[in-house]
Amino acid sequence: MQRAALDWKNLGFTYRKTDYNIRYTWKDGDWDNGVITDDEYIPMHMAATCLHYGQEAFEGLKVYEQKNGDVVVFRDVENARRMIRSCEKIYMPIVPEAMFQDAINRVVDANRRYVPPFGTGATLYVRPLLIGTGARIGVRPADEYMFIVMVTPVGPYFKAGFKPVSLVIEEEFDRAAPNGVGDVKVGGNYAAGLRASFKAKANGFTEALYLDAREKKYLDESGPANFFGITQDGQYVTPASHSVLPSITNMSLLQIADDMGLRPQQRPIEVNEIFNFVDAGCCGTAAVITPVKSITWRDKEAVYCSDDMPGEYCARLYNRLVNIQLGIEEDIHGWIRRLPLTD
Ligand SMILES: *Cc1c(COP(=O)(O)O)cnc(C)c1O
Repeated sequence: MQRAALDWKNLGFTYRKTDYNIRYTWKDGDWDNGVITDDEYIPMHMAATCLHYGQEAFEGLKVYEQKNGDVVVFRDVENARRMIRSCEKIYMPIVPEAMFQDAINRVVDANRRYVPPFGTGATLYVRPLLIGTGARIGVRPADEYMFIVMVTPVGPYFKAGFKPVSLVIEEEFDRAAPNGVGDVKVGGNYAAGLRASFKAKANGFTEALYLDAREKKYLDESGPANFFGITQDGQYVTPASHSVLPSITNMSLLQIADDMGLRPQQRPIEVNEIFNFVDAGCCGTAAVITPVKSITWRDKEAVYCSDDMPGEYCARLYNRLVNIQLGIEEDIHGWIRRLPLTD
């Protein structure tokens, strides 16, 4: 295997073309066996339901080269299960877990030369996508679907290491309705979140932090990342809410927090609790943990750390999780799946 000639240590978090992607078609009630293609484009009917009516769900996960040279994926069965929940909620056929994992095996094998070397901080980002491709003009589920898995090598989300961010509590806009689709990874949620994100940036903050849409009283999450805080007595708390996307990173941090004695708790978190936290972070696959420097609510600001130094809890949680992903610390929870590659 001749690795691609890339400047691995300086990859940004952007799309970069690789050799192949894999595509499966659902037709007449069943999936085909999938084909590997080098085409970056999708030929599609202009009346496809994904274009008009938002029948679209996606996932995001990472493949790592570990210290011992193994190429592994982190908790992909959880992504497969989450995609099943997304499909069910917007009336798309599900991708069975075995097919989801097989797609990852095949597409990573085909793009083996793009798996970043251990120690560079880079990873292979894997993006599964399921779209309604059948033509409809009335609002109805499509009769044809495509499941694609594409990969792209990415650098760490923050190139210069941890970069604490400033959040602002968003009161004007909601990301998702209480009994809507905020808890599944469907494309429409992200278009809906763009204006709150732009507003936050225009006002000098990094990102918006949403409140629950029903009462505007509890914390939800921040754009594409879950939120957690550390209480004064050292407890890891993260919002319980019907409109938060269940993050697999957060699910893992809840376990790690428990392993570290931080007595994790998922519960409704009132907005004024932000003033009692000693540390806070956002979490998701892309950045793993983004330390939160400050949260602004109305005219008050809660501050957790400085511009260039994460809080102690964020740093500890981050190191433990990344070390498990890279095979530096033991995977005691069985989160790592070694990929069967041909070379
Ligand atoms: C994907 C996503 C996350 C993070 O989930 P992970 O499984 O940890 O990557 C958090 N919030 C939203 C809204 C997301 O779409």
